[in-house]
Amino acid sequence: SNQPSNRIKNMSTSATLAMAAKARELRNEGKDIIGLSLGEPDFNIPDFIKEAAKQAIDDNYSSYTPVDGYADLKIAISNKFKRDNDIDYSLKQIVVSTGAKQSLFNVAMVVLNPGDEVILPAPYWVSYSDIVKLAEGVPVEVPTSIETDFKMTPEQLEATITPKTKMLWFSSPCNPSGSVYGREELEALAAVLKKHPDIIVVSDEIYEHINFKGGGHVSIAGIAGMYDRTVTVNGVSKAFAMTGWRIGYIGAPEWIAKGCTKLQGQVTSGANAIAQRATIAALEAPKSKIQYMIDKFHQRRDLVLDLLRKIDGFNVNVPEGAFYVFPDVSAFFGRTLNGTQINNASDFSLYLLEHANVATVTGEAFGNPNCIRISYAASEAELKEAIARIAKVL
Ligand code: PLP
Repeated sequence: SNQPSNRIKNMSTSATLAMAAKARELRNEGKDIIGLSLGEPDFNIPDFIKEAAKQAIDDNYSSYTPVDGYADLKIAISNKFKRDNDIDYSLKQIVVSTGAKQSLFNVAMVVLNPGDEVILPAPYWVSYSDIVKLAEGVPVEVPTSIETDFKMTPEQLEATITPKTKMLWFSSPCNPSGSVYGREELEALAAVLKKHPDIIVVSDEIYEHINFKGGGHVSIAGIAGMYDRTVTVNGVSKAFAMTGWRIGYIGAPEWIAKGCTKLQGQVTSGANAIAQRATIAALEAPKSKIQYMIDKFHQRRDLVLDLLRKIDGFNVNVPEGAFYVFPDVSAFFGRTLNGTQINNASDFSLYLLEHANVATVTGEAFGNPNCIRISYAASEAELKEAIARIAKVL
């Protein structure tokens, strides 16, 4: 009695949200905590998007929305896919949801039967494995390390596929590693998948625009042979600093889009009306309107890398996108710092919180026990101060 279901008991709590809650608690106790744990841009929403939302309120966009999204928003999404990704999705292949998180959940529920395996190159975004488990799928982690820039090789993919493999999920640019798969790397993965035509790929491209790599973003759906079996996931949270507005979307094979709409129709109905109207303005704008944020992230990445490299024991690669660095801190394992024994990344992250008053996230939450994730979606002053404090307690 008074017990939640096994489904809920067996779930893990989102580690990033848990860390944010812990940081908030310490702040309430009067501690000066610098929060580098959340995956959230620290910019305000651009004014032109706010104006579109205000206009939508005045225009009385207040009724239930179509379950799969307003038709004119879906047109804007279809145009965006053509313009930025060179992929053609008809309106029947597009579903708008309450954040990309819901998009991902929908897809898992629509594609997976109990026991189906889902390959997750690790580190992966914190929610993937719990979403897969909720859909009664089996997450199969493929560990990668800093030596391969945290990317899965075609050989690893090949070796992980079994007759039960149903899907492959990955993000590029990657949360938490910041790694970006280039065209040739995606083509090499696609060559393996060609031999296994029933595997569906989920390509999470929510950090698409926050990409500093020459050559820019490549969508795997645009690679020969992949279109009919790829779900392209995207949203406005990261590129437009609209995390709280909760709009995500997919372009997908029609049968998957149809299933997502059916599911959503029984769970949440259509996404928020005002946020959908604002999203039209966001997606129709030229990239130049958000370039200032991308430039800022780029500068901060360089700053953070520069400062972290000066700390003995931090092994850092060069993340080419998103707004995270994912240093390997395993050199500290087995040491005792200020009386605290550090045995793993969780100990290390907790040590930084308690001794340096800096909130990070343990890599264990992302399937990599050697690393911690540091978000650089914070001001330069905060980043400098945070890293100075970290250096001091190490
Ligand atoms: N996918 C990745 C890789 C993310 O980092 C996030 C947010 O942290 C999401 C999806 C979910 O985004 P949304 O805010 O649209 O639900």
